[in-house]
Amino acid sequence: MLGVLLIGLFLPQVLSERGTPEVDSRWLHYLNQIHTAVQRHSPPDSHNGTCFYRVLQEDLEPFRSGISRDLMQNVLSRKLGTHYQIINHRLYREEECMFSARCSGVEHFLLELLPNLPDMELVINVRDYPQVPSWMNPVIPIFSFSKTSDYNDIMYPAWTFWEGGPAVWPIYPTGLGRWDLMREDLKKAADLWPWEKKIPKGYFRGSRTSPERDPLILLSRESPDLVDAEYTKNQAWKSERDTLGRPPAKEVPLVDHCTYKYLFNFRGVAASFRLKHLFLCGSLVFHVGDNWLEFFYNCLEPWVHYVPVSPDLEDLRELLQFVNENDEEVKKIAERGHKFIRQFLRMEDVSQYWGSLLTQYSQLLQYRVRKRKDYREVTVRSHHTEL
Ligand code: UDP
Repeated sequence: MLGVLLIGLFLPQVLSERGTPEVDSRWLHYLNQIHTAVQRHSPPDSHNGTCFYRVLQEDLEPFRSGISRDLMQNVLSRKLGTHYQIINHRLYREEECMFSARCSGVEHFLLELLPNLPDMELVINVRDYPQVPSWMNPVIPIFSFSKTSDYNDIMYPAWTFWEGGPAVWPIYPTGLGRWDLMREDLKKAADLWPWEKKIPKGYFRGSRTSPERDPLILLSRESPDLVDAEYTKNQAWKSERDTLGRPPAKEVPLVDHCTYKYLFNFRGVAASFRLKHLFLCGSLVFHVGDNWLEFFYNCLEPWVHYVPVSPDLEDLRELLQFVNENDEEVKKIAERGHKFIRQFLRMEDVSQYWGSLLTQYSQLLQYRVRKRKDYREVTVRSHHTEL
């Protein structure tokens, strides 16, 4: 049976490699998954980036019958986010914003797009967690950066693409942001650390924002030759209990992650901002768990762009052995992931997503938006200082 599979899927390889050892039957299972995924995958460039467009359509689907003034009143009464209004190409906001740097990060994109945006109003949740569980009736329109399939929030590109990401001392003292500059820095780091030079080990640095990360830290303590993973502090750190009984590790900038061949991503409170960065190292991304999403995640496919890992990390030792022994094959996964983020997640793609999302959303509003008297205008000049 194995022989049939081998011949069915890898005939060209077997023939061309006559005289060299055949594919190791232990790895057929993984190789078949890669092969099937790559065959099924239609690259986004062949259908004009419609993958992002599909995400947007799905998120707006619950509101296809329209958003009435009453429904918006309902949303506002729940205080689940910050209320923005766009009227006559000007942006207005209620005073309250739970995290001003995050609102600033969002406003960067709204302000930039204003000349092309129709009138609308929307509620933007800048907390980590989504706010519209699927049982909620009626479904209310709230914009959140991340969700699982159990939520009906409308995903928007997170503030951190510009500013307001987590402040990590001393590497990102003003908060993780400026994706445009990060992309350049990571490109330089990737050039310095081509695949062949990278250390063939798993690597992770981050805080314990979710205990789902624990098994990797423990594996690293047990088998440091396989994985180098340590917990760093975050602002909530109180004692060594928060770093799994060891002192916190020194923080390591994302560019220095590029030294390693296999980089791990985990959920945090919601999706972690780290994922997009890891691809730009040109390393192979091990993406643990597939529940938590940002707007671009569904365009990345397991085995095509990254190695999917189940949250219990049960198969991890085997997976690491597989990638070590199939270097040429998995290098292609790293290259596809890298290429996708380089080509399709540029700053202009992020702005464009915001633009399409808001334009389509505005078409669902069934009433004329009236400016609230007590709202102040957000302008490029004022949005850092006055609000
Ligand atoms: N981070 C980093 N180096 C470190 C610790 C964290 O680059 O030593 C980055 C990490 O990649 C993420 C952000 O800082 O983008 C916050 O990481 P943390 O693990 O604290 O939280 P997460 O957002 O991943 O849940």
